[in-house]
Amino acid sequence: MLGKLAPVSRCARPLRALARTLSGSGAGGAWKVAVLPGDGIGPEVMDEAIKVLEHAGPLFGQSFEFDHAHVGGAAYDAHGEHFPESTRQTCEASDAILFGSVGGPVDEQHLPKWKDAEKNAVLGMRKAFDLAVNVRPATVYPALSHASPLRADIVAKGVDMVIVRELLGGLYFGEHRTDGDKAMDVCEYDVDQIRRPLEFAFAAAKQRRGRLTVVDKANVLDTSRLWRRVAKEMAPSHPEVELEFMYVDNAAMQLIKAPSHFDVIVTENLFGDILSDAASVLPGSLGLMPSASLGGSKFMYEPSGGSAPDLTGKDVANPAAQILCTAMMLRYSLEQPAMAAAIEAAVSSTLAAGICTADIVAPGVTPCGTRAFGDAVCAKLSEAK
Ligand code: NAD
Repeated sequence: MLGKLAPVSRCARPLRALARTLSGSGAGGAWKVAVLPGDGIGPEVMDEAIKVLEHAGPLFGQSFEFDHAHVGGAAYDAHGEHFPESTRQTCEASDAILFGSVGGPVDEQHLPKWKDAEKNAVLGMRKAFDLAVNVRPATVYPALSHASPLRADIVAKGVDMVIVRELLGGLYFGEHRTDGDKAMDVCEYDVDQIRRPLEFAFAAAKQRRGRLTVVDKANVLDTSRLWRRVAKEMAPSHPEVELEFMYVDNAAMQLIKAPSHFDVIVTENLFGDILSDAASVLPGSLGLMPSASLGGSKFMYEPSGGSAPDLTGKDVANPAAQILCTAMMLRYSLEQPAMAAAIEAAVSSTLAAGICTADIVAPGVTPCGTRAFGDAVCAKLSEAK
């Protein structure tokens, strides 16, 4: 079914425009944002993201209508399931979806409230909204070089990349079979499935520094050779983008040795899963990593981390990832790049001023709380306007 759909960026724009016309959102009206805080630290960091959007809106002549809905364990308490139909409908009626995180403490995973909560909620969203492409930026903020596992001289060269991962094809979705002492897993891709992430990746590279790295294993795999063929066929339509190919084993090394080389990376499901997790440690905390899942008409934005039960209710979680999700939403769903850039700059200057939560604070410096970080980002937004 996926293969017959148009690529993400090409089909999303007219659908969004149509949705806006029908709902009256956007110019002159309020953007409708579905808010799914979920469990654990989800509600706390979501409060800060909403606070920042409500503060930034008037500065940019935009307004928002937030429709809250339950997901994960919170939805199980209210509706007896992790992704209820009422939540799907709230998302359906929105311009974009802000998702917190779901799941409970490790020692409570056997309880019905938490059992498969993450799987049911996340896969439910992917299926309901055909979320076929995952986008994860990894930025190492110079002010936080102490938090990154990278050497300071590597951070100094600048680490700012976006990893685009195909999400609904490849090895994870092929046939899996075990026959006694023999097992197999099938990896399959068709041209349309490959075009969707590539289309988005070319567009993202064009808006950024203009380099696109296709990561594959084309010396061994037929599916990788098909990815290369499709990328080469698409390249002439994107002359501003410098296209290169890199084997996945080399890419894993270069992510650590020379991460400043990368601008946009695009790759298939399995390689993207592994590389984006490797890249997620570069900034120094999961609390700094936003992500987007893009599909047909509805895009979802969520932090890369989970519900962090160890931090819940203590006003210590880092809300930066959830706040940066709002910037991604403004850029990709609501087409408000100036407001997105202002929020990113406000987060960056907050961190540069040494205002940091406990996960990333420099040695000897007093950390701020979750709410104080949100307040500081709002103050930086006002200062910059
Ligand atoms: P986790 O991401 O919640 O936590 C891993 C580590 O990162 C913890 O030490 C945590 O304190 C830290 N961390 C995460 N987010 C942070 C933030 N914003 N600020 C500061 N530190 C932060 O992963 P886990 O502990 O393996 O899983 C906890 C629960 O989250 C589980 O129930 C799991 O199923 C769920 N989970 C959900 C999602 C999702 O909602 N998409 C993703 C991953 C895990």
